[in-house]
Amino acid sequence: MAKGKFSAGKAFLACFLALVIGFAAGFFFYAYIKRPTGGDVYVSGDLSIHFLELGNKATGDSIYIKAGNTDILIDAGSVASSTDTTSEYIKQYCTDNILEYVIVTHADSDHIAGFAGSGSSPSMFDRFTCDTIITFDLTNQEMETSSGNPTTYARYVSQLQEAVEAGATHYTALQCWNEKDGAQRIWDVSNGIEMEILYNYYYENNSSDENNYSVCLLFNQGDKHFLFTGDLEEDGESRLVDNNKLPKVELFKAGHHGSKTSSTEKLLNVIDPNIICVCCCAGYNQYNAAPENVFPTQAMIDRVAPYTDKVYVTSQADESAESGYRSMNGNIVVTSNRSGVTVECSDNNTLLKDTEWFRANRTMPEAWRKAA
Ligand SMILES: [Zn+2]
Repeated sequence: MAKGKFSAGKAFLACFLALVIGFAAGFFFYAYIKRPTGGDVYVSGDLSIHFLELGNKATGDSIYIKAGNTDILIDAGSVASSTDTTSEYIKQYCTDNILEYVIVTHADSDHIAGFAGSGSSPSMFDRFTCDTIITFDLTNQEMETSSGNPTTYARYVSQLQEAVEAGATHYTALQCWNEKDGAQRIWDVSNGIEMEILYNYYYENNSSDENNYSVCLLFNQGDKHFLFTGDLEEDGESRLVDNNKLPKVELFKAGHHGSKTSSTEKLLNVIDPNIICVCCCAGYNQYNAAPENVFPTQAMIDRVAPYTDKVYVTSQADESAESGYRSMNGNIVVTSNRSGVTVECSDNNTLLKDTEWFRANRTMPEAWRKAA
């Protein structure tokens, strides 16, 4: 009996020690994964961010992100037929046809037309199974045109509803920020790569400018950060800086297609971007704007130049082409893994400042002239 007791005691001690060692190992593993101190990226999955050409010259955003095996789409492009181009591209990478996360930044048609779809070009919600859809909270868009037809926004609303009926979970950015109803502020999208929904004052306050309603988010891969602000304007950017602890970023998607009213000094000063990607058709004057307002604007270029010359642009206007456009860099792919952050574009890797288009249409900022 005494021997039996002794064995039970020893077994208890062994179990206790195993537990202690287990907890210590678990804690070390957690700390190693989640709290990098050096310059390395302590995550196992690669992150690749694809700024997509949209198959037409119209201004718009569609960004496909592959984080490990997780597929994420931010916005769906300029016009319904953008989805013919973008879905074909995405399906090369998203082989199970499931988009785990879909972000809809704001309700302007150059971001939601591909979600609204059309008779000939199905909505991205129809083309893919969508798991979690995170959208803007507010909009000034109408459901009907002045002639009584449904707007692009109305068609988007009904497509979103169908996606939810088909099993998607829908949260707004504010629900995520407030962690309401199962929504999260930080989503662990793959092997420690985080998608963090930032706080934008205009999730819950009205703005006369639709762009300010944009969902703003960061991807965090260890100590590397990637910032997306949709078409957020100057006032929205200012409040974004005031309301969030923004880090230095590897990548910033130029605000509002390179507009002079976004990518402002207050934001740039905090995020100190290394790479800037502009989603636009350079030089295409879609909105009959004054020359200084045509994307990508001289004002934006002058502001970003002191921070980086690694500026890439998807497309450029080309009147000799039937479509009216051609690739500038093409699809811009920013990849981040253990060996660092690299940019590889489908057409060429020429920096904006070294393109013929830039030389013919823009003035070299002082900072870029000095560096040359
Ligand atoms: Zn836009």
